[in-house]
Amino acid sequence: MDARETRLAKNEVVFREINERINELAATHGSDEHVYTFFCECSNGDCTLQIELTRSAYEEVRAHGARFLIAVGHELPEIEDVIARNEGHWVIQKADGAAELAREHDPRNGEA
Ligand SMILES: [Zn+2]
Repeated sequence: MDARETRLAKNEVVFREINERINELAATHGSDEHVYTFFCECSNGDCTLQIELTRSAYEEVRAHGARFLIAVGHELPEIEDVIARNEGHWVIQKADGAAELAREHDPRNGEA
């Protein structure tokens, strides 16, 4: 993994942290089927696109340490694979070094 890939992967990790906070807050307030606003976790550090999602849909993405929630079409095919194309949001999975970095920084790492 080169410096650029590391940087791109870190952008995704940062936005995942923000989404985890949103999810935590949501958990204390509403039902799982209520729609909340999460942020696109793509590798573009300037992207602030918001994604409307239920908590249960978010939890599905978060169940895997190397997967990220992105807006439709925000994947970078050279560093990640799109594994789910849903209406309004896609799910990507990191490979190799980036996947390792993603798991290392997984806020839920210590829990499982
Ligand atoms: Zn994005």
